[in-house]
Amino acid sequence: MRVVFILVDGARHDVLRELVDRGDMPNLARHVIERGGLTVGTSVFPSTTGVAYVPFLYGCYPGTAGIPGIRWLDRGPQAAGDWRAQWRAARSYCGPQAGWINRDLQAGRSIFELVPESLAICTPLTNGLAPGAHLIPFRRALLGAVAHYAGTYPALDAAVADAWLATARRPWRFLFVVFPGPDGMTHLYDPRHPKVLATYRAIDQALGRFMAAMGSAEPPALFVAADHGASVMREHCDVATHLEAWGVRTLRHPMHVWRRTAKAAVMVSGNAGVQVYFEPRSGRTAPLVESELPGDLMERLLGLPAVRAAAWRDGRGGVTAWAAGRRARLVEQGSAIRYEPGDGDPLELGGPCELSDRDMLARSRASGLPDAPRQLLQLFRTSRAGDLALAARLGSDFRGPWEIPEHKSGHGSLIPDHMEVPIAASVRLPSVALRTVDLMPAMLETLGVPVPAGLDGVPFSRLLEPRRPPARLASA
Ligand SMILES: [Zn+2]
Repeated sequence: MRVVFILVDGARHDVLRELVDRGDMPNLARHVIERGGLTVGTSVFPSTTGVAYVPFLYGCYPGTAGIPGIRWLDRGPQAAGDWRAQWRAARSYCGPQAGWINRDLQAGRSIFELVPESLAICTPLTNGLAPGAHLIPFRRALLGAVAHYAGTYPALDAAVADAWLATARRPWRFLFVVFPGPDGMTHLYDPRHPKVLATYRAIDQALGRFMAAMGSAEPPALFVAADHGASVMREHCDVATHLEAWGVRTLRHPMHVWRRTAKAAVMVSGNAGVQVYFEPRSGRTAPLVESELPGDLMERLLGLPAVRAAAWRDGRGGVTAWAAGRRARLVEQGSAIRYEPGDGDPLELGGPCELSDRDMLARSRASGLPDAPRQLLQLFRTSRAGDLALAARLGSDFRGPWEIPEHKSGHGSLIPDHMEVPIAASVRLPSVALRTVDLMPAMLETLGVPVPAGLDGVPFSRLLEPRRPPARLASA
């Protein structure tokens, strides 16, 4: 069996469903959904490109892999060093440091390594790919840079589609195909803009051409998913600008990574997720815990109307989750999660509880912060995560309107609009709540490749209800 994974960057599940229902995605319907199914799963926090690709390729969360955001601060001597070291420490995978994500990754083996006969198109994560197996890397770099400033994402997606079509005549077992267009166009417009919908339809046409080119060969198993959703931004609440206005010198991208005597560093992802690092020039490598956080600044930051939820390390091996002025403690109990609200019910889980990981996911799916318990715990697994993480409310993000081009829409938060993603597959889908991190083990299983131990994701075979035997067998 061969597997193709199609990553539709930034596709909203409801938009995709509407297009399918309208008959605008005939190839997805015929080759994927009719053979298997389409469901809504959840991504990771921060819900942003690159970071949220880690689950698809490694089967683990970004916090497990040491990638806390698309921007993060490498604490310690680097951040306190000379100007070169300071620039290196202020990590941003959005510019010249984009390729560094591959050397920063602290995960196990990628699916590319586990399936040596892999090919990939338009991926920022390349570890484990054989020489020559990353197709069109130079066209991706060039067209990607132009698209960022000129909005020419359809040209980039067309190059991806052409490279994909050409693989129909090549030998491979696993094919990883990334279409950045829906996300790129969404940032410039809104998730339902005709130009955004056109990128979905173009991807469907690319799928149709690829399947036709495969001819009479046995059709590969197809998996289709998005790394995050998106929503319209009406307010840009620039946390760094607020800190500066309060007299706190703030290290930030792109022009202020050398901020002298900085007292805070602000690292934005998506742009609706942000992590704040206090005293970034202290040379300290350990993150701050609750009792060490600056109380006055915390109060001001949590008081920003754009903040929907927040979290920090509690200093006792758990995480404090905050929403609407209320706090709760989250702690891992083996494979279960315990939720202990101090007052009220900030994560909207119906009160204190200790649930298995999958039951907690299912319960949180009905809340305004899907999978928040697991996602906040996984983020702080890495000491690279900020001292404080903030998730924006619907309609707000954390980066000023000065950004070129301005983000009219975005993602990165823990809200359903950003966390919920479409998951479609030509194989049978489990009926339980799914995460994007489950897809890598599911694809390995489909390929007949042993699933490594210790992944965060769970293969479909362990999530599927056993099929009921036919009635006459049951009665026999
Ligand atoms: Zn994006």
